[in-house]
Amino acid sequence: MPEPSYDSQNIFARILRGEIPCRKEYEDEHVLAFHDINPQTPVHVLVIPKGAYVSFADFAAKASAQEIAGFWRAAGHVAAGLGLDAGGYRILSNIGADGGQEVPHFHVHIFGGRRLGRMVPKAPEG
Ligand code: AMP
Repeated sequence: MPEPSYDSQNIFARILRGEIPCRKEYEDEHVLAFHDINPQTPVHVLVIPKGAYVSFADFAAKASAQEIAGFWRAAGHVAAGLGLDAGGYRILSNIGADGGQEVPHFHVHIFGGRRLGRMVPKAPEG
């Protein structure tokens, strides 16, 4: 999939630069995790890399092994820190137009705190 160029004015880039506040859950050299502003579940946290990657596809293709390992290790650490290991949770990333991605900086959603049901609706909306 061809990747659009990275828009440094996207909202998550602005959060990373400290221009917009967030409810921070975790931060390290590779990753920032913060609570979604419009939570869909009792626990809804976003994990983003600090590097400028448009989507998962861009991250998977271009990030260093250290960044990739650091990202997923941190995502697991965040989920555990949120108390989700016992009950379970879901990690999801929307990619591009068909994936319904709104913010063009790679992120995963961590959803938890209740039974989440089906992975996706039976038929696409619209
Ligand atoms: P996606 O559709 O995967 O791109 O999801 C983008 C997510 O970012 C949505 O769940 C939004 O509610 C969330 N979001 C947008 N702006 C902010 C913000 N300023 N702080 C926290 N979450 C945000």
